[in-house]
Amino acid sequence: MLAAVFHKNKSEGGNIILEEVDVPQIKKSDQVLIEVTSCGICGTDLKIMSGGHPANDKTILGHEFAGIIREIGKEVQDLTIEDKVAIDPNEKCGYCYNCRRGFSNLCEYMAKGTTFGIFQDGGYAKYCVVPRSALYKLPDGMDMKVAALIEPLSCATHCHNIADVKETDNVVIIGAGPMGLLIQSLLKIHPLKNLIIMEVNEWRLQKSEELGADHVINPSKEDYKKEIMNITNNNGADIIIDTVGMADTFEMAQKIWSYGAKIVCLGQDAHAEAKIKPNDIVRYQRKILGSYIYTSKDYLDGIELLSNKKIDINKIISKEIPLKDILSTGFRLMREKTCAKIITLP
Ligand SMILES: [Zn+2]
Ligand SMILES: [Zn+2]
Repeated sequence: MLAAVFHKNKSEGGNIILEEVDVPQIKKSDQVLIEVTSCGICGTDLKIMSGGHPANDKTILGHEFAGIIREIGKEVQDLTIEDKVAIDPNEKCGYCYNCRRGFSNLCEYMAKGTTFGIFQDGGYAKYCVVPRSALYKLPDGMDMKVAALIEPLSCATHCHNIADVKETDNVVIIGAGPMGLLIQSLLKIHPLKNLIIMEVNEWRLQKSEELGADHVINPSKEDYKKEIMNITNNNGADIIIDTVGMADTFEMAQKIWSYGAKIVCLGQDAHAEAKIKPNDIVRYQRKILGSYIYTSKDYLDGIELLSNKKIDINKIISKEIPLKDILSTGFRLMREKTCAKIITLP
C-alpha cells in the first residue's frame, strides 16, 4: 500500500516520502485493522519535517484519521467488522496519576511518545492497526470524509470547554490558521458579544470573515489595540485565545485584556519566552489558562457536533486530495498558508 513515511535527518527534522509498504497485520488480541477513509493534514506534520516537533524515524505519519473496521483481534468484544470508527491517536495508559485524576490529555505514558501518526504508524496509508482503546465508534450516518476532523475539532472543544465563554463576553482569537478557524466555527454556534479575529495573513483573514467573524484585524497593518478598544467600548477582550503561542502573540494578548480577562494558551512554541507583570494578574484579577489536546469527554463532544451537524465542517475543508498528492499539493498549500483543512483520501 502507498504510505507517507517520515525519514529522520541525522541532525533535526527530516523528510516525508511516499513509498510502498506492507499492509499491517494484527499482532495483539486487543488490536483492530482499520481501512482509513480519510486523514487530515496538520501543521504538526510540517513541524516534524522542520525539526520543531519530535517523531520516530520510518513512521507512517497522519494523526487525524477515521476509517472502517476490516479485522478485529480476539479480545475485542464490542466492535464488529464494517463499524465506522474515529481514532484518538494519543495512546494513553489509563492508570497513571494524571489519567486517574481525569487528565488523560496529560498521561505520563503518552508523554513518552505514543501518538499514532507521529511515534507509531498512522493514517497516511490505506490501512492502520490500532488498539481498541484508541477507537470511538461512530454513528452509521457519519460522513467518513469529514470524520478525520473529529481529532482537531476535539482540540477546539477542549479549548471551548476551558474558555467557558459567556453570552456577554468579547472574545478575541489570535491566529486564523486551521485551528483558529475551527475554534471560530465552534464559538459561532455559541452566543457571545463580539468575536474578533487577529491574523497577519490576508488569505486567512478573508476566510475568517467568510466564516462569520464579527471583526477581523490585521495587527501588522492596523492599530489592533485601538480597534479592539473601540469595538469593546474601551473594556478590552474578556477572553483571548492564543492559537499561535509565540512571545509576541502572548504579549499582544496582554495589551488588549479586560479586567477579569482570561487568556487561553493553545498554540505551542517550545522556545517562546514572554514577559509578564504579575501585578497585572493580581490587581485586575485575570487568569492565564492552558489548553492541551483533549480528554475523552472533549472527543465525544467533537463526535456529537459533527454527527448532529451543529458545525458546518465542510466550510473549513479547503481541499480533498488523493494521498499520492500529499507532497505536491497538500504540504505545498499548507506552507503557502492558502488553505484551511486539507483531507487526504488513500
Ligand atoms: Zn494535529
Ligand atoms: Zn496515563
